[in-house]
Amino acid sequence: MSEQERRVYLHRLGCPKLDVDNDLVEGGVGQLGARLVDSSDDADTVIVSTCAFIGDAQQEAVEAMLEAVAWKELGPNRTVYVTGCMPARYRSELAKEVPEVDGWFGSGETAELLRSIDAVQADALLNETTSKPSDHPGRFNRDLEDVLAALRRVEGKTTAYLKIAEGCDRRCAYCAIPTIRGPYQSRRPGSILSEANRLLVQGVREIIVTAEEVNSWGRDLGDGSTIETLLPKLGEAVAKHDGWLRVLYTHPPLFSESFVQALADTPALVPYLDFPIEHADDRVLKAMGRGTSWDFMQRWIDLLRETIDGIALRTSVIVGHPGEGVAEFATLLKRLDAARFDRLGVFRYSSEEGTRASKKEAVSEDKAISRADEVMELALDHATDWYSARIGQKVDVLLETVEEKTLLGRSVWDAPDVDGDVLWSGEGSPGEIRRGIVTDAEPFVLHVRAAPPSMET
Ligand code: SF4
Repeated sequence: MSEQERRVYLHRLGCPKLDVDNDLVEGGVGQLGARLVDSSDDADTVIVSTCAFIGDAQQEAVEAMLEAVAWKELGPNRTVYVTGCMPARYRSELAKEVPEVDGWFGSGETAELLRSIDAVQADALLNETTSKPSDHPGRFNRDLEDVLAALRRVEGKTTAYLKIAEGCDRRCAYCAIPTIRGPYQSRRPGSILSEANRLLVQGVREIIVTAEEVNSWGRDLGDGSTIETLLPKLGEAVAKHDGWLRVLYTHPPLFSESFVQALADTPALVPYLDFPIEHADDRVLKAMGRGTSWDFMQRWIDLLRETIDGIALRTSVIVGHPGEGVAEFATLLKRLDAARFDRLGVFRYSSEEGTRASKKEAVSEDKAISRADEVMELALDHATDWYSARIGQKVDVLLETVEEKTLLGRSVWDAPDVDGDVLWSGEGSPGEIRRGIVTDAEPFVLHVRAAPPSMET
């Protein structure tokens, strides 16, 4: 690293999976001897980490890129790099349109980014010079799997995502992720378990398993690994630290009794599961290429609720997809109302270039907006009942922050950023997992008082 210590600002956009990639970038940049700063005002290098999943995210990424380019013009010796899914999807077009950017790196090209910052230090850090780049900018380099994972620094964080795989082999008609992130690529079990232990030793209390879809994990490794073999081992590691294990991005079309049993047999697993149905009308599920039916998914909803006591099921749906007429939407509402998911999110269909659905006529934007509103109304109705029914119940809470002298946290039923919050009263401090009693509730907020010591265990 040059005499003058480099000061790097990482502008984070995107999803939990990209969040993990960003941790590797920060860890790597730090170990190159650069200093991470909290704003471009104090930086001489800006890295913009981008999402390209849907139009809105791409818009946000372009704005952040142009802001960084404008910042670059305002001072000498300034550098701008763009990472993540925009380069993985549009590198050649972007390089032509925004030549001021000094380098474009897919989410699987962290090693190449570090080399661009300081080739000598990076080769020393990655203790090699010649690893062949991965076959897709979104896929990680198998040779560097462990050395890159070891770069991750999460001190001071109570929660960390653990990415168990990259890419996706499904072909949902509306989704560009297989193009952006490439074919499914499982991380090796040993690498995942070592990372989990490093996170727990660094003080993380909640590990959140993530991937584009977790059910296919291990199938491409050819060593008998499956998600059913991985989760109980991960749970044991987390249980040793009295932590929480949470699973996001399951893939309902791939559910099986062995998977549900593995969830039930996994120590430290919170009674919560992300079960994204995307829709509930069979004609629309067919148009989406989901390869499943409502009856098939209903079966697992019932079995999960029978098998895992007090489980909270989160789901998300897409409205306005080509093929969703008035009748199909009515079916969606009727089945959502009957299933009463504990957490319900909705997205409006976004026509994505290169996807099969983009060649079909979608529902008008106005209609999609009003349908999304109807789903959110239903979600609020259900939430009102769900939250008031929690009053008086015991609940475990991960205490996270203090705001205006109030301890805030999340219950076992709340994933970060998408679900509800807990206002905690009584003994406790951030980073602790405590048991409490729900004293009051309103939609998306639980008021919880610390339980007496006799109830802590
Ligand atoms: S499972 Fe479908 S929606 Fe999910 S990432 Fe894969 S292709 Fe996209």
